[in-house]
Amino acid sequence: MTLRILVTGGGGFIGSHLCQRLLNSGHSVLCLDNFSSSSPRNIAAFASNPRFQLIERDVAAPLFTEVDQIYNLACPASPVQYQRDPVHTLRTNAVGAMNVLELARSGGIRVLQTSTSEVYGDPNIHPQPESYWGHVNPIGLRACYDEGKRCAEALFFAYHRQHSVDIKVVRIFNTYGPRTQMNDGRVVSNLIVQALRGEDLTIYGNGSQTRSFCYVDDLLTGLIAMMNSEPGFTGPVNLGNPRETTILELAHLIREHTHSRSKIVFKPLPQDDPRQRMPDIALARERLHWSPSTSLEEGLRHTIEYFQQELQTSTCS
Ligand code: UDP
Repeated sequence: MTLRILVTGGGGFIGSHLCQRLLNSGHSVLCLDNFSSSSPRNIAAFASNPRFQLIERDVAAPLFTEVDQIYNLACPASPVQYQRDPVHTLRTNAVGAMNVLELARSGGIRVLQTSTSEVYGDPNIHPQPESYWGHVNPIGLRACYDEGKRCAEALFFAYHRQHSVDIKVVRIFNTYGPRTQMNDGRVVSNLIVQALRGEDLTIYGNGSQTRSFCYVDDLLTGLIAMMNSEPGFTGPVNLGNPRETTILELAHLIREHTHSRSKIVFKPLPQDDPRQRMPDIALARERLHWSPSTSLEEGLRHTIEYFQQELQTSTCS
């Protein structure tokens, strides 16, 4: 069955890959984005597809349209980007969630919220299962994103209980791949771009903090599996790669795969930077029959190739 699907944040890094995958499956895609932290170049490859439509606007502005499903991805996800305008980040998360929920309520349709591992904050439980309530500083620099996403989860469950809206909630752990912006600020793109330019690789703190990196293609499979999972299964479900890596290990891997001789330099650790993060994906395995299949080495190779081309294009133009 082909559907008309709204993807908010469809011009972003994950959103644009999702639009492409949905179009490839024969669906029509309505992409909503204001390109506040992404580029229209992300959608260039399929912008002329007759089944693709772009609405250039903010998710926090009221929206009226008829669709069959909604994926809500609209929000800057890099700490550098979401801290630039924290009020707008909170607004995007809270008002944006209400807007898509109202649309789902009035149309009687399913809506999927992309939440985040940031709802666990600087976790005291490791790895993090969905049952963990988290350890978040509500007034810290990351609060605009962490609490914004927590508020969105609360809104999703309130609409589900009060108005029987058909909701799905996933918590996305660190994801990387092609179409991250060169100035995005997150660690994988920062280190790859620095390595390719022969600049110093910047490690914040001593590099012993950990993250678990999921390649974007694997994440998409999980997102779509959750959207189409059995009725009544709301989540939240963790989606991420359970291989835990220190940031220092990541820097060494990137240096090796780019054949770079860049030096590693240490910078101050940002406030409230989580010390460790790794998803417990038992629930996704059981209910969605999902687990990632791309190794970090393979995913990095694809991502490095992408940034090599981006750098060539930017130096030629
Ligand atoms: N980080 C780093 N160098 C960079 C960018 C980030 O060492 O150039 C660190 C950052 O302090 C954090 C980890 O890498 O500990 C992941 O940061 P990112 O911004 O990618 O995402 P987060 O998981 O913190 O939201």
